[in-house]
Amino acid sequence: MKLEQSDSEIYGLVKKEIEREEYSLIMIASENYVFEDILETQGCVLTNKYAEGYPFKRYYSGCYYLDKIEEIAIERAKKLFNAEHANVQPHSGSSANMAVYYAALNIGDTILGMDIDHGGHLTHGAKVSFSGKFYRTVGYKVSQKDEMLDYDEIRDIAKKEKPKLIVTGASAYSRIIDFKKFREIADEVGAYLMADIAHIAGLIVSGYHPSPVEYAHFVTTTTHKTLRGPRGGLILCKQEFAKKIDSAVFPGIQGGPLMHVIAAKAVALKNAMTNEFKEYSRQIIANAQYLCKKMMERGYRIVSGGTDNHLFLVDLTNKGITGKIAQEALEKSGIMINKNLIPFDTKSPMIASGIRVGTPAITTRGMKEKEMEIIAELIDKVLKDPENEKIQQEVKEEVKKLCLSFPFYSKIYKI
Ligand SMILES: *Cc1c(COP(=O)(O)O)cnc(C)c1O
Repeated sequence: MKLEQSDSEIYGLVKKEIEREEYSLIMIASENYVFEDILETQGCVLTNKYAEGYPFKRYYSGCYYLDKIEEIAIERAKKLFNAEHANVQPHSGSSANMAVYYAALNIGDTILGMDIDHGGHLTHGAKVSFSGKFYRTVGYKVSQKDEMLDYDEIRDIAKKEKPKLIVTGASAYSRIIDFKKFREIADEVGAYLMADIAHIAGLIVSGYHPSPVEYAHFVTTTTHKTLRGPRGGLILCKQEFAKKIDSAVFPGIQGGPLMHVIAAKAVALKNAMTNEFKEYSRQIIANAQYLCKKMMERGYRIVSGGTDNHLFLVDLTNKGITGKIAQEALEKSGIMINKNLIPFDTKSPMIASGIRVGTPAITTRGMKEKEMEIIAELIDKVLKDPENEKIQQEVKEEVKKLCLSFPFYSKIYKI
């Protein structure tokens, strides 16, 4: 890398991060590894160009190649998701949500979204987020009975609160979401429906989770989670909202689009149309379910009793440890997960009673059921004795050994 000469300080840290990603088990449910073509595209000269506006309607000269690129990205997004309209400019999932609110709501209107401690995202109405500051927000929870969505209860809240927008979708929910039911509820109370599929978009386009595109007025997603593309956002909507959404993104909440990222999104969307990607999505879920089973066999309580997607939540209460302790002990062992609130958690978000475990990244490396068995054993070994640094060192070595047999970035970088 040129960077080695120009800025050895940053270079050194980037190199360390490459090593960390190569030799750790990345099991944070929202993370993934992108392939070299995405890295290349994201690091290319398109970063130089201003392209405010939309294809063939720009404010700057010299956009003709970028017009084609964005047009391809839009067409691929529409085709992949079977959507009437796509906007590929949001810089992130949060920006995509902000743009939808900006397009569909007035300040002070009511949003009904999933509570953050039950799996929802910050942007679904949390008080610390713009969503909770600019809008009146009310939340729904999972049922205390089975820790799954309770559509009757959501309907009751919607009837009482009369939201203008209902948000479905989550960051920490392991079960199938019934988008059709959500639309019925939205129609009953005259609300718009926004489906935020940031986590499960890859599973949806592969046919392993029902799609909301037919039901929701607006669909938002990230492109960097199960879609395995560059860090960014995407909005899909019905044609009738196309103009409103486009002007909400630009000039509403953003300036110049990140054309290098949009090009990388196009590359990711193409990849997501392949049979290999479908098989990848199938394996993500198979791995999550198998790992979940192996954890249950070791006495871990899984929130809702299992998973239908790429992640699951482990309630550590019966093991006598907190999410924070588990996260720190596993991090020292080379296993990256995150502490997470579980439904009806009594602890603060910084402590939390659970952890969230995800399989997209390790599946990208090629790991399968056999490796899930090993990983369950390693996690259990660490969590049984979370203060034991000797065990953490041993497990870290085991993790490295496992990672060495699934080389990823060591194939393209010298490490
Ligand atoms: C990750 C996530 C987002 C936000 O994505 P950023 O790119 O981090 O802003 C939005 N909604 C849900 C449900 C998410 O899980």
